[in-house]
Amino acid sequence: MLDADFFRRWMTATATSMNREAERLTALDSAIGDADHGSNMQRGFSAVRAALEEEAPDTPGAVLTLAGRRLISTVGGASGPLYGTLLRRAGKAFGDAAEVSEKQLAEALRAGVDGVMALGGAAPGDKTMIDALVPAVDALGDGFAAARAAAEEGAVATTPLQARKGRASYLGERSIGHQDPGATSSALLIAGLAEAAT
Ligand code: ADP
Ligand code: MG
Ligand code: MG
Repeated sequence: MLDADFFRRWMTATATSMNREAERLTALDSAIGDADHGSNMQRGFSAVRAALEEEAPDTPGAVLTLAGRRLISTVGGASGPLYGTLLRRAGKAFGDAAEVSEKQLAEALRAGVDGVMALGGAAPGDKTMIDALVPAVDALGDGFAAARAAAEEGAVATTPLQARKGRASYLGERSIGHQDPGATSSALLIAGLAEAAT
């Protein structure tokens, strides 16, 4: 079973990797966006880490809803409300349970990803974070390492796609040949989940 501490470790590991990979995320966003994705993720997840330390939420649901709220309030770009929705929806699905199963986590993340698709209107293949998140949630039944690998593959597989949502879509065919920054940060988020589990 997964307790609040597991979800705190997930968010902390993600904050660390967003800091480490910020330059790479920004370089990807400079090719097909406005060169702020690394700083957006760094600012957002650093604020999440600080909020978790200050407020010490003690259930899985409270950890994820606080994280989601903090992303929405600190990240100005499209990715803030989208990641915020992912985590808030997942957190809400947990209610006030003290511990959740891996199956409940998969179901909650499915609800979160559905929320992201409803908010942003993106479907798989549109070259967005959805292209890493959907395969990750699909693979979660096979374990955290499988989800991590699926997210990374999904992110890499955005390279030949043409963007149909977000800023990159303004480039039309010129968005082809670049890996999507948001799919790349989603792979880091799922990698953080696998790290928390080890
Ligand atoms: P902005 O584009 O506002 O500067 P970011 O650079 O932080 O925001 O995030 C860009 C990423 O957000 C994209 O690479 C893409 O993965 C994701 N994204 C943008 N629009 C959407 C959308 N409508 N649905 C899903 N993901 C989206
Ligand atoms: Mg951007
Ligand atoms: Mg921006």
